[in-house]
This record gives sequence, C-alpha cells and structure tokens, in this order.
Amino acid sequence: MNSSPIAAIATPNAAGGIGIVRISGKGALELASRVFTPVGSKTPDKMNGYTAAFGKVHDSNGDIDEAVCLVFRAPKSYTGEDVAELSCHGGLFVMQKVLRAVLEAGAAPAPAGEFTKRAFLNGRISLDEAEAVMGIISAQGEQAAKAALGALEGSVSREIDEVCASLTASSAQLAAWVDYPYDEIEELAPEKLSATLISAREKLAGLIKRFDSGKAIMQGVNTVIAGKPNTGKSTLMNLLSGYERSIVTDIAGTTRDVVEQTVRVGDVVLKLSDTAGIHETDDTVESIGVKLAMKQLQQAELVLAVLDGSEPLSDEDRELLIQCKNSKTLVIINKDDLGCKIDEDEISDLCSTHISISAKTGAGRQKLEQAICSLLGTGDFDPSQATLTTERQRACVQKAVICIDEANDALISGMTLDAVTVSVEDAIGALLELCGKTASENVVNEVFARFCVGK
Ligand code: GDP
Repeated sequence: MNSSPIAAIATPNAAGGIGIVRISGKGALELASRVFTPVGSKTPDKMNGYTAAFGKVHDSNGDIDEAVCLVFRAPKSYTGEDVAELSCHGGLFVMQKVLRAVLEAGAAPAPAGEFTKRAFLNGRISLDEAEAVMGIISAQGEQAAKAALGALEGSVSREIDEVCASLTASSAQLAAWVDYPYDEIEELAPEKLSATLISAREKLAGLIKRFDSGKAIMQGVNTVIAGKPNTGKSTLMNLLSGYERSIVTDIAGTTRDVVEQTVRVGDVVLKLSDTAGIHETDDTVESIGVKLAMKQLQQAELVLAVLDGSEPLSDEDRELLIQCKNSKTLVIINKDDLGCKIDEDEISDLCSTHISISAKTGAGRQKLEQAICSLLGTGDFDPSQATLTTERQRACVQKAVICIDEANDALISGMTLDAVTVSVEDAIGALLELCGKTASENVVNEVFARFCVGK
C-alpha cells in the first residue's frame, strides 16, 4: 500500500474562522516540521501524539500565517498513519498558500477520499463504516445524522458479522460433512441448518426494510410536483422551499422546463421537480416540457399531484390521477381559500390520500408535512437500529438474501449438500464484500471516489 505523505485542505473551499491543512503518511511529521516552526522547542517530528503546538507556517519566501499544529502518531490517527493538522486562519488565499508550502516540502496532493481510504486500507474502519462517514457529512437532519453515526460506530458491521459467523459455522459443518461423510462428525440436521438460514435471512431482510424506509431520511426522495397548468404547483414549490424559486404567474403553462429544488420536510429531504403540466399542447417548447414531466412522473419516488380545488375536476385532472395510480402519490387539492368545488366522493374513488391546502396563504402546510411523512413511512424510522447507508450495501445484503433462499431451497428439495454449501458460501461472500473484506479494488475505488477532497 502506498503510504507516502499526502496533503489537502480538509475544511470547505470557502473563507472561515479556521482552515485546516491535513498531512498524512510516512514522514508526515518531518514534512510538517519543514513548514511549521513552533514557538517552543519541539517541532512536530519531536512531539507526542495527541499534542498541539502554536507557531508559524512558512514557505521559502517567509511566514504565511500563525497556526496550531496537531500531531497524531500511527496507528492512533484517523488514517492509521502519522498525521499533522495545521489549523490556520481560514482565508482561502492563506489556506492555498499553506497547502502549496506543504506540497513543495514533499507531500502529494490527496485525491478525493484518500484519507478515509487509507483508514480503510490500514484496517481502522470497514468499508461500510467509511461510507457512514459520507452519511454523516451529507446528513441534512437529526435522524439521518444519528443513523450514520451509529453505522460509523459499527452498528451495521456488528449485525453483518453476527450473520456471517452463523453462516460460516454452518458452512464449515457442511464442508466437513461433504469431505468426510464417514467420519464421526456431528450429524448434520437439515432442520437445524434450515433454522440458521431462516434466522440469518430474517436479520438481513430487516436491514433491507430499514434501509428502504430510512432512505427518505438518509438520502432524500425524488419528488415530482405534477398537475395541469395554473393549479398552483410553482406556488406550492415556493411554499415548501420558503422562497421564490419558480416563476409564479397566472398565465397557464409558465413553468415550461423542470425546476429543481431540495427542501426539508420534517426529517425528510425532498428533491423536488416542478414540472410542466401534463396536457395536450401544440406549442413545441411546451410539449417537450410535457414529455419530460411524464417521464419524471414514472421515475418519481413521490408524486405531489396538485389540483385546483376552486374548479370541478377536469378530464386532465382525472388523467393525471390515473397516471399516478402506480406511484406513491399525495393528491393536494389547492386553493382551499377559494372554497372547494371538487366532488369529495369522486376524488376518494380516484386516489387513496388527499388533503386540502392553500399554497398561496400557507394554510394547511403542517397537514401537508404530516401527510408526506406518513406516506413515506418515515415516522417509524428508528435511527438507533443498524441502518445501511448506501445502495451498494443494500445490493450486497439483497444478494446474500437471494443466496440464502437458494441454499434453503436446495436443502428442502433434498439436493446434494455441495449445492447448499456453494449458496451459503456465496451469501458469506456478499456480506464480506459489504464490509470491504473481499471487495475488489474497483469497488473500493468507486466508494471513495464519491468522497470530497480532504476527507
Ligand atoms: P402552476 O402553473 O401550476 O405552477 O401555478 P402557479 O403556482 O403559477 O399559480 C397559478 C396562479 O394561481 C397564480 O396566480 C397563483 O397566485 C395562484 N394560486 C396558487 N395557489 C393558490 C392558492 O392557494 N389560492 C389562490 N387563491 N390562488 C393560488
């Protein structure tokens, strides 16, 4: 593994009170000593781990800034290597100058995610825990942050390790029985093995279920605001986002392209697209918008279908509700302040969940938020339980479940124990990949490519 020193600005690319340049790798402390002169006598290479010194950072032209140098000694650091962190005044120019000085002193610029990747390669954290770091950074709500912190502290790894251990014990017993059928090995009871497989499957299925309901909280929900022109979609989007984002006019068809916005509703992040209405049009530009809206509707994880309650239902509204039948849809009867002309019985027949609001006055906003959370099922999400944080992890668990099912089917249908063993081994393989114990270099690189520089 490459452990030559790397460096990057670890704080955001913006002016701030403090900015940190992080250096990690073999020789990191000697390198820090070349650019940092402490007020006292101990240069970073002489300092103990977990200690700090005040001094000045300089390059070949002279002093750059005052700084505090924090020293971590391998293996007790984030990366597991020697680490120095130079905390300076957080001006962008100064930070870049400090980084340049460090690079000139011999460090290589750290690629995105390199610090956490080294922590993983040095065995400090597992791959799922590394992914949880990103979960913490990107968390936009209390619940998401708590679940990601739990995963970073090993809640997912522990649950996966437990399942792996029970499958490995079964697999070892199976292998012994296949290899030495005439030896005195405890007889393999298919019922006992099947019970182990079922219990492992249940635990994994629980993880998948929690990921699906936690996804809205952890990653946000792709949401489409749909409805014919002038029903108040842009006004609703503005109500949810809290400021004027879409153009609101009373000329039908103003919102021609897809406008996107991220808003937080309770603990859920909605990635909103406000679309052109779905209706017949001869206007070329508008018809492109309509097609785009239809496509978005099919791909959405949540649809907010907006109706104008001040008018009776039109055929276009009915068409929209039919289009939304297979999506998770909340029907919003807007313009409640003007009185409702929509037939309650008809609307109840056409959709399962509907509420009345006034996007213009904001009346019913709270009811709207509650309806969204209850439709997404986020009310039941418990962040203290182990929660997978990425689709990659979910795919590994899903693969393990399929393999366990195959093993169980093989067992029940009386196939050879070889066949059962192969499927159990495949399930274990998928779980080991989740934690990164057997993940290929490509998978590992892909995980860390999503990180930011300096993390
Ligand atoms: P869109 O074409 O569906 O995006 O509709 P807009 O948001 O542009 O709204 C069309 C018109 O309806 C504008 O004049 C809005 O001010 C008005 N409008 C939107 N919501 C309400 C509401 O709740 N009550 C009333 N009275 N007017 C509204």
